[in-house]
Amino acid sequence: MDCIQKLQQMIDESENIVFFGGAGVSTESGIPDFRSVDGLYHTQYRFEPETILSHDFFMTHTEDFFDFYRAKMLLLDAQPNAAHKKLAELEKQGKLKAVITQNIDGLHQAAGSENVLELHGSVHRNTCMDCGKQYTAEDILNSVGIARCTCGGIIKPDVVLYGEVLRDDVVERSVQAIFNADMLVVGGTSLVVYPAAGMIEYYKGDKLVLINKASTNHDAHANLLISEKIGEIFSKIK
Ligand code: ZN
Repeated sequence: MDCIQKLQQMIDESENIVFFGGAGVSTESGIPDFRSVDGLYHTQYRFEPETILSHDFFMTHTEDFFDFYRAKMLLLDAQPNAAHKKLAELEKQGKLKAVITQNIDGLHQAAGSENVLELHGSVHRNTCMDCGKQYTAEDILNSVGIARCTCGGIIKPDVVLYGEVLRDDVVERSVQAIFNADMLVVGGTSLVVYPAAGMIEYYKGDKLVLINKASTNHDAHANLLISEKIGEIFSKIK
């Protein structure tokens, strides 16, 4: 039995699947992985992306933040790939109960997923820091310089920047979903970044599937390990 057949069989036998995904899920949609060789860390900017995408930098170099953010983070033409679509289908079939993602691009919702737990927030929610008025990602993309509310306040994207804490309720619901899962599929993440590595420890079942192009430090714990691109794998699942 090859790994696709094995994965198919595990999915067929499960009724409470949870998916935990990282940047690799979106790279096949053309969104660069922060930490990969081809990713943002190797582009030319005056500051390191990790510096730019920090809370301190947002507060002190707000205009530089928005210049970078609009150019590199708001890739609004990106479309869901086979992985996003298959996960949405499995949710509609009642087999998949939650998608937990470290991505901020909203592509799971664009594919039709409803229960999406966004650990790092979303570019699609933006809030005035003064009055709380909400703005779309398009509003931010079309703004110039510092994105400002009609009230004059600065609009902050609801993405978790370096130096900011994750939302407690999202973490709690994610841990609960993983704990209750009969199958956990982890894809497109090397599992080195907090909180990914710690969260999958809550899984107690015997159907842990890791799908990642590179090796991860949890490979030994996987019941099924697939070292391929996740979109390609999911395009072969019925
Ligand atoms: Zn405002």
